Amino acid sequence: MEQISAEQNHYLNDFSKLIIAEAAPPAAEISVKHTLLKRLEAICKEVSPDAQLIPFGSLVTGFATASSDLDVIFTVGPHFDQSPDDLSSPDFRIPHILESKLQEEGFDATLLTKTRVPILKLVQNATDENPFDLHCDIGFSNHLAVFNTNMLLTYSKCDPRVKKMMISVKSRSKIKWWAKKRHINNTYRGTLSSYGYSLIVLHYLINIVKPAVLPNLQVFPVPEDTPTTEIVFEEAGDDIFDIWFYKDINALSKSSNTMHVGELLRGFFEYYAYTFQWGREVVSIRTEGGLLTKQEKGWVTAVVRPGKTENSEVKNRYLFAVEDPFEIEHNVSRTCNGPGVGRIKEEFRRAVRLIRYRDGGKTMSECLCME
Ligand code: ATP
Ligand code: MG
Repeated sequence: MEQISAEQNHYLNDFSKLIIAEAAPPAAEISVKHTLLKRLEAICKEVSPDAQLIPFGSLVTGFATASSDLDVIFTVGPHFDQSPDDLSSPDFRIPHILESKLQEEGFDATLLTKTRVPILKLVQNATDENPFDLHCDIGFSNHLAVFNTNMLLTYSKCDPRVKKMMISVKSRSKIKWWAKKRHINNTYRGTLSSYGYSLIVLHYLINIVKPAVLPNLQVFPVPEDTPTTEIVFEEAGDDIFDIWFYKDINALSKSSNTMHVGELLRGFFEYYAYTFQWGREVVSIRTEGGLLTKQEKGWVTAVVRPGKTENSEVKNRYLFAVEDPFEIEHNVSRTCNGPGVGRIKEEFRRAVRLIRYRDGGKTMSECLCME
């Protein structure tokens, strides 16, 4: 990485502080989300008395920014193995019943069945009492999301800079920094999900920046007395996933890396702009060193596979390759199409150009956030 002046460094740091302060969701919004969660759970219990809604995603990891969506999983018991098998079978009924019930209760609710996993999308529009538009996704069979959320949370607890990096990269705040503002955080438009950005930030912090900010929690040996439920997860009837990661983070020594978030952000942009080989490499945070090749994963040409719901299909593209840390056959960035990848790459380069050449970083806020 090129040297930058002390003044530039200072500026980057102050700027990252500003983004983080702006991005934090107001306390009132968090409280309204928790109230919504309770109300939804009560409605779910009317459909199935043992129903529970388990939150995951940014509300749990703490990476939420103003107007982040609420991600939850519908389950019918304290343990995942008590989820009824028929939820993901062709004639599953509960999601349909719940969709109608929520519509009766005044929610704007739509069940998506052509997605990789069935999702019930809800919107609660702002009212006089509640000034926030709330978006909630209810999933029915994506239990791995709870495990990967816990791993992201554990990484975040390892070092306070993790959360700051995540928020800076995908902020939806008024400043709407980078990915959101530059329109490269939209899976429906050929670019990358927030989860995908979280994984590529982790790869940088674990494997690229020196000294490393984070250890790789998935390469620690499994202690002998670990319960099997922490090592593998068996999805109703089919696949088995290795979900082990090291959790006793208080036993780990702190990183010797003392860079501030501004410097880390700059290194992150530089790496994906000029070093990462988009055409050849796969980001794989479970792997020592963090990289595999597309060739060795067999991720070379796009394939269409049947989805988990009736008549659904999943198109797997590998233009940008980010391996899910648990579901290792899943390319988290399969939503990225050709133009989307081109835009993401160009945005990384643009960010670097602005930081390197414009006023020693002083115009970074205006330039990176400009439409
Ligand atoms: P935001 O605040 O922008 O909503 P988020 O951290 O909640 O960010 P999302 O992209 O909403 O991130 O994803 C929420 C969770 O859903 C992730 O933690 C992950 O468990 C799961 N998820 C999202 N996208 C994918 C994907 N492409 N593949 C696998 N799991 C995903
Ligand atoms: Mg979310």
